[in-house]
Amino acid sequence: MKQEDSQSPSLCGYINFFQVLGDMESEGLITQQEKRIIKQKITVKEPSLMLLLSQQQEETQIKSELLSYLSSFQLTRSKSHTQEFGSSKKQGQQLQTQTIQLMDQLIIQLKCMQQYANQQVIVFRLLVHQATQEFNSKIEQLRNVLNSLDQDEDVDCTFIELLQSNYSLIKQRYSRYMNSLLELMDEKVEPKDIQAFLNTFLNQLIGCESYSFILLKDQKVQIHYEEKFEEFPITKDVIDELVNLQQITEVHSLNTLKHYYQTPHHYILKLTDYQYFVMQLDPNFKSFVTLSNKYNYTDSLIELAQFVIYTSQQIKVQYFSILSIGDTILEFGLEIVRCSKYLLIENILQTINKQYQIHEIAENQPNVVTLKFKDSSSSFLFASNLDLKKQQDLLVYNTVNQVYQRYQQFIKQCYERMQFYKYFLRSKNLFMIDFDKQGRLRFLSRALSQKIKTQFHIEKIQIDSTYKQIFTSNQQMLQSIENYISNAKWKLTQQEEDQNKQYEIFIRKEEKQFKGFSLILLENEWVRKKTLPPTNGKTVRKQLLQTETMDYIKKLEEFNPDIRNSVVAMYMPQTQEFNQTALQSQKTPTLVFRKIDKGQVVGKNSFFFKQREEERRFMKTNPNKLNECHLILKEEDNQLDSLEFNIHLLKSAIEKQRIVWAMLERNNFNQIFALPQEKMINFLIEMENQYNMNNNPYHNFDHGVAVMQAVNCFIKQLSKQLDQQFFNNMTKFCLLLSALCHDVAHTGKTNAYEANSLSQLAIRYHDKVILEQHHAATTIKILRDSQTNILCNFSDQDFRTFRKQLISNILSTDMQEHFKMLKEFESRVEQYGNDPEDLSLLCGMVTHAADFNGTARKWPQSRLWSEKINQEYRAQYAEEGKQGYPQQPFMKDLDKLHVMSKNEIGFIKVIVRPLYHQLNLFGKGAFQDCVDNLDETIFEWEKVYQQELKALQQQQQGN
Ligand SMILES: [Zn+2]
Repeated sequence: MKQEDSQSPSLCGYINFFQVLGDMESEGLITQQEKRIIKQKITVKEPSLMLLLSQQQEETQIKSELLSYLSSFQLTRSKSHTQEFGSSKKQGQQLQTQTIQLMDQLIIQLKCMQQYANQQVIVFRLLVHQATQEFNSKIEQLRNVLNSLDQDEDVDCTFIELLQSNYSLIKQRYSRYMNSLLELMDEKVEPKDIQAFLNTFLNQLIGCESYSFILLKDQKVQIHYEEKFEEFPITKDVIDELVNLQQITEVHSLNTLKHYYQTPHHYILKLTDYQYFVMQLDPNFKSFVTLSNKYNYTDSLIELAQFVIYTSQQIKVQYFSILSIGDTILEFGLEIVRCSKYLLIENILQTINKQYQIHEIAENQPNVVTLKFKDSSSSFLFASNLDLKKQQDLLVYNTVNQVYQRYQQFIKQCYERMQFYKYFLRSKNLFMIDFDKQGRLRFLSRALSQKIKTQFHIEKIQIDSTYKQIFTSNQQMLQSIENYISNAKWKLTQQEEDQNKQYEIFIRKEEKQFKGFSLILLENEWVRKKTLPPTNGKTVRKQLLQTETMDYIKKLEEFNPDIRNSVVAMYMPQTQEFNQTALQSQKTPTLVFRKIDKGQVVGKNSFFFKQREEERRFMKTNPNKLNECHLILKEEDNQLDSLEFNIHLLKSAIEKQRIVWAMLERNNFNQIFALPQEKMINFLIEMENQYNMNNNPYHNFDHGVAVMQAVNCFIKQLSKQLDQQFFNNMTKFCLLLSALCHDVAHTGKTNAYEANSLSQLAIRYHDKVILEQHHAATTIKILRDSQTNILCNFSDQDFRTFRKQLISNILSTDMQEHFKMLKEFESRVEQYGNDPEDLSLLCGMVTHAADFNGTARKWPQSRLWSEKINQEYRAQYAEEGKQGYPQQPFMKDLDKLHVMSKNEIGFIKVIVRPLYHQLNLFGKGAFQDCVDNLDETIFEWEKVYQQELKALQQQQQGN
């Protein structure tokens, strides 16, 4: 033993040994488990292995010795415990031999005692004493060795492996979800592709094999399943069963639906009292969904389901934005990856619970080993049989912690990847192609244009392409990539300055390991002056975010310091905000659940439906509502073509509804588009009703009609000033209707408020262009309703065209698009042509400008409109204060006239006037009246401001 201890292997010996060990594993000579056993034995300095290490033998010699060592280990493993491990085995054998020898000596001495009993008693005693002492000490040593053997033998590698395989399985499953985005990046993506994509996405995320949804609507239960659609009446049984459902229930247990879902593993997720999502789950993975109640992530599932329902419904009738779908699913994907952590926790607990029995306790108790998973619903878990003094238990405990930490690291990486991808998803002129470490395509920021294909000699990109296949006709690029990867040695180094280069390569590393690379392609020209610094993704993103628009805004703020906290803030592009939240959430990557107040939502909606029902019944019987007799043109209607028109002078709702009809009638649209009169009456009543349901001071039916009337004027003025006819009847009609409906069902709050209050609308539209999307959707809903569908005589194709234009017009009133739209219009106004995109942009500009018609009218009217909007802002500011939401700085103190007038001046100077000015240039003076009115209004507000300031100063002096 002493001889073996003195053998201390050199570092070189260790390295050599571990290399051989690694080779043996990769050659398949030993298993991973066997490798681990050897490593464990080396850490406890198992003598025979130490000997092997210190002898510096040939590789083949080491291999064969290790194999024979392992074979003896496996043989003895099944035998008795005392012989299990080499080191203890040898010690044990030696001690055993010594003890047996001592016993033999004792026996001999006892025989001697018998022989010489009467002779030398003292010698005898002495001998017996010596032998017994030596015997006892050897027995003691043997006992110690046996004890140490008992501890060693417990190490059960299969247990550790089980924990680790849990981790890899879940990680593998969730690392693939982003790849589903690739399916969307086809040039000719069609509704069926999006449907297919939704299926893949749901399958990869929650193991959903097929889905359907159930809506309770108009006294009927509607079941939507792929292309199929079934209906049955709502009875009391149905209501009892559906409304009282648990959040997640197995359909099997329901009488009403059993019939429709006969195959097993169907689960129903209750979204609201009238919306249900049914999933057929992969039996191997259903636990993710069924765990949602326990770990409180049902909200995430509900949002995911609502997104799927919404998208499924939209793709049937609407044009869709790949960008917004891509953007949204990146977020949902991440959300589900975050929640999948609980699946890992649950799997860990189940695995070790077999042996250690996990309990929940309220507080930390002494002398128990607790397992802490941050964010899990149970704060303290203790394993009653876990004893950290035992080697095996300590190993299990450490593995649990390690596995959990590694998974959290994985979530963080997913988050960073998402941010990186998102940036490129939104980028207009940069393409990003991401490859994994095997060089396979992992992400494409959007479908490659023909331009970029020609520019970089790319023939085709498929989901499983490698970079070698993609650039097969571009040897130069291939060479560049390979050089870069091999020369960079997984480190980013400064690239050579190359002004002509149209692309950049970024190597991705995690924990010093090469994980792949991204290729950033620039369409046509490389505008950035210097090469991006070779650092991590965060800096890259930050650098890239210096877009043209942001530069413009910066300049704007430089010259107009006043606008910083003014209403102009509403017109700043979202990128700034996006980046800030991204950075904030990077600091605290903990999971934040969105809480949806279901009670409120359900109540609000059912009230809404009830109100509409009553309204309809009322409509037919009440003679004080708009009816056919009202629909006649009047002499004063020619005022409708002038900005002098003032809706505030009309006192009755009927009259306000009538002039909408009158504008259509004067353009002959009622006849051209065969708009049925009865439906028109219902439509106008419904519009007024939906506009005025929240009693907003500004965003009400008056505003809608005024915007429509302004569009009516603008169209007339443009055709008068320009020789070219830009709008056909359909475009004009659509412009008028878009203007009328552009704010329907307005909540009286801004998008920021909706987002901050996590309103149902904000959740539905994922915080993006919330209200504008809501107005467009509400309009389409009304136009599809059998009682109000004035477009019922449109062909299917015409309706689609109309709808597309209408949505585009309404969305152009989104204020955050303002600067971008203005810039785009500016750049195109010179060579404005018959391009459909140009027309769409012009319609957007006209609608957007008309939205500010109040300000662009003559001073007294202009002031009245401003006061109304400020009244609405003040109400929001107070409500935000009351609810504890962030308050909009520009809404502060609007009751003070000097604050409000200053705000108005900034708003007109920076936002409204440049817009009208640009349109006026284009329209060769068509908007001159408006520009003049705006200048007058600025002048008048300045006067108000100066007067107020003076009054304030006098007041201060007086005090
Ligand atoms: Zn508006």
